[in-house]
Amino acid sequence: MMRHFFLFLSGHRGVRRWMETSSVSKKFTRRFIAGETLADALTVCADLAREGIWSTLDHLGENVTSVEEAAASRDAYLQALAGIEARGLPATVSVKLTQLGLDLDEDGCLENVRQMAAKAAPGRVEIDMESSAYTDRTLGIAERAAAGFERVRCVIQAYLYRSGADIERMNRLAIPVRLCKGAYDEPAAVAFRQKREVDRNYLALMKTLLDQGNYPAIATHDERIIGEAFRYARERTIAPDKFEFQMLYGIRRDLQRRIVDLGYRLRLYVPYGTAWYPYFMRRLAERPANVVFVLRNLLR
Ligand SMILES: Cc1cc2nc3c(=O)[nH]c(=O)nc-3n(C[C@H](O)[C@H](O)[C@H](O)COP(=O)(O)OP(=O)(O)OC[C@H]3O[C@@H](n4cnc5c(N)ncnc54)[C@H](O)[C@@H]3O)c2cc1C
Repeated sequence: MMRHFFLFLSGHRGVRRWMETSSVSKKFTRRFIAGETLADALTVCADLAREGIWSTLDHLGENVTSVEEAAASRDAYLQALAGIEARGLPATVSVKLTQLGLDLDEDGCLENVRQMAAKAAPGRVEIDMESSAYTDRTLGIAERAAAGFERVRCVIQAYLYRSGADIERMNRLAIPVRLCKGAYDEPAAVAFRQKREVDRNYLALMKTLLDQGNYPAIATHDERIIGEAFRYARERTIAPDKFEFQMLYGIRRDLQRRIVDLGYRLRLYVPYGTAWYPYFMRRLAERPANVVFVLRNLLR
């Protein structure tokens, strides 16, 4: 119930406006959000790099309503890529296609992706996956970019029934995949609703990716799944540099340390920007215990 409540709030405009302009918000978001500016985010990436952790920068924002806004998002990402390059950071960028105008003009959106990929070193652009309304269009753009040699990483969500077929398609095209469980509230017509079923599908898809994928990213904080990835990689003699783990900034820092200490690659998803509200609410939805963390910070 809490999950549905926070997912509902994540789309509530009034609460969002209040939260984003509230002077106390920094107090409870700083654990999960790097800051409001690119400079804040690059500083976090540099600190993580010193700990042997790579990062992917997410300039927060979703669903722009004009081509100009989409171009401004693209430019923010081009600046992020330039900042990463200038500071020699082991970082990529992660972008949502609705930020680059997917709802307005699919070809224009592809062009924005191409400009980013052309500017970046190979493998530096990752495309997040949004709700199932966008799955076909998002994978279509990743494929069209790959056909023009601008290979970008795309995301597959283990909760969708279709994901096995999508992974096979991405593997055939050697498009790198980030596998996650899925963060949106999807109906039973398209997605598994029980955690047990999602986890079972995740494990099966993860093994397919480890065997046949192009440098896959295993994105989860699930200790049992991460343990199974270690075990499977050892069993199949898959070297630690053939894949990477990905986790969210501020979540399960104990497990993050353990992954790096064991000699595996870890990249953290580092969000920054002023439009942090929907991202933040999705993190609360995933783990209501985070609300306690938030409240504790507010009372400090
Ligand atoms: C790098 C990365 C990129 C992602 N990109 C996308 C994307 O493009 N599209 C998309 O739909 N989703 C994305 N997600 C989110 C993902 O789909 C899940 O919603 C999220 O990762 C929680 O699932 P889990 O795999 O950690 O497993 P869960 O079963 O939810 O959690 C397993 C354990 O992880 C810990 N945990 C999980 N979430 C939290 C939290 N918020 N706070 C504290 N502890 C927590 C807890 O210990 C929990 O018991 C991404 C996740 C990561 C890590």
